[in-house]
Amino acid sequence: MLGLVQDRPLLISSLIEYASLYHGDVEIVSRSVEGPIHRTNYREVNQRAKKLAQALGRLGVQPGERIGTLAWNGYRHVEIYFGVSGMGCVCHTINPRLFPEQIAYIVNHAEDSYILVDLTFVPLVEALADHLPNVKGFIVMTDEAHMPDSKLDRLICYETLIGAEDGDYAWPDFDENTASSLCYTSGTTGNPKGVLYSNRSTVLHSFCVCTNDGLGVCNQDSILPVVPMFHANAWGIPYAAAMSGAKMVMPGAAMDGQSIYELMEAEGVTLSAGVPTVWLMLLGYVKEKGLKFSTMTRTVIGGSAAPRSMIEAFVNDYGVNVVHAWGMTEMSPLGTTGNLLKKHQDLSEAEKIDIRLKQGRAVYGVDLKIVDDEGTELPRDGKAFGRLLVRGPWITSGYFKGEGGQVIDEDMWFDTGDVATLDPDGYMQITDRSKDVIKSGGEWISSIDVENEAVGCPGIVEAAVIAVPHPKWDERPLVIAVKEPGHSVTREDVIHHLEKTLAKWQLPDDVVFVDELPHTATGKLLKTKLRDEYQNYKLPTA
Ligand code: ADP
Repeated sequence: MLGLVQDRPLLISSLIEYASLYHGDVEIVSRSVEGPIHRTNYREVNQRAKKLAQALGRLGVQPGERIGTLAWNGYRHVEIYFGVSGMGCVCHTINPRLFPEQIAYIVNHAEDSYILVDLTFVPLVEALADHLPNVKGFIVMTDEAHMPDSKLDRLICYETLIGAEDGDYAWPDFDENTASSLCYTSGTTGNPKGVLYSNRSTVLHSFCVCTNDGLGVCNQDSILPVVPMFHANAWGIPYAAAMSGAKMVMPGAAMDGQSIYELMEAEGVTLSAGVPTVWLMLLGYVKEKGLKFSTMTRTVIGGSAAPRSMIEAFVNDYGVNVVHAWGMTEMSPLGTTGNLLKKHQDLSEAEKIDIRLKQGRAVYGVDLKIVDDEGTELPRDGKAFGRLLVRGPWITSGYFKGEGGQVIDEDMWFDTGDVATLDPDGYMQITDRSKDVIKSGGEWISSIDVENEAVGCPGIVEAAVIAVPHPKWDERPLVIAVKEPGHSVTREDVIHHLEKTLAKWQLPDDVVFVDELPHTATGKLLKTKLRDEYQNYKLPTA
């Protein structure tokens, strides 16, 4: 017997329509690409999103068409999120930090008919345009006065385009499973693969982001997502902010410590979200200038493991609660959050940090399990580690156009490529990416564990640990580290520091110092590049 409740579709347009009606005056503040701080609100964003939908309709855009974006976090990008998905099209956020050939591949694979471009990226599309024959127009996200002088013949001005519409438009109703957005994974191996979200998956994910044990987004918040809107939909924050009526503060292109700090203070930011690399810059700036955060109460750190020293600095030095989160593009992206439980309230600060260091517990809606190489489930004892599998209503069922083949098993489990433990309280801890673990004499050494300890060594700002071939042990760990400017930390200092916490067989065989480490387009350490570079490295122990 089926229940007797209305089967109203869960649509992305309902989020902005709700925000406009119930939180119409709540601000969206952006550091604009043109320069000044720009202020708008949910009512205006809804109006302008509708105008964009009208304008795209007038250009002949049909439901299901992919519309690309090459843009920073800003109000026009928010309008595009809602306008494009709201009209039944697919908002394809393109990561501008990818290699140009990868961008061309992605745009052609997605068959984007129009691309909305921030001023910053006009030179990029100028260079690529010849390789993008199917793109009918590049809509530059600015007004007539700021339109660039360009030889490109397919340029359209965003403000002029939407300025011709009246906004008298009702968001259409359609099947909630309709595709809404497309985001390609950075593809450190092989070609990037498209993750295709639906209206339904996005709305369900937003409910989760708004729960207290999700990211706790609510109307009291002023949220600064440093995580880009071209990276897993800025972790779903623009949608969740609209669902809850939270103020949004958008950093635009300026992600250095000073710019982020100034926005946080000026706009009463209570919650921020970003990858560790960004927080490293922010903490560095705040420490150097002797500043405090006057309104920020919590920050979400994800995308890579948050090092202990970073969590300690936020919590102990600045009184900012850290929500360590784990997920992936294929998961919309939220999977786990590292919030403490009631029973943890009397633990010492150090014990609480131990818990926060783990990637956290599954949010409602995400099933997790760890399995061995044969697929047998492993115990949740905090010790056994294995491949981490997930399933749930906002987790991919397959990549766009079937790339990568079948990616879920018959029970819908998706292999995350991560290796993890699960403890009896449900806290998951990533021990490594399956391709990054160091296999030394039959034992596995977690590259992440060694990295986390290494960045805690005074004088080290960033460290990568990779496996280097070894004649006796197969592979042994090598630390590649960046020093604090002017610091005289040595190889011996690092090894000595690691001896305090690591077992002897886990200690690196060598430490090398470099000026800079390579990162992926999403700010993660690019270990494939390091492995290539150091494959013939001669370890002193070899
Ligand atoms: P990419 O485009 O680089 O694949 P994703 O965000 O999809 O970007 O990457 C997801 C992966 O990032 C996860 O599978 C995991 O390996 C890593 N990751 C994300 N959050 C964390 C975290 N809190 N701690 C450790 N690793 C993380």
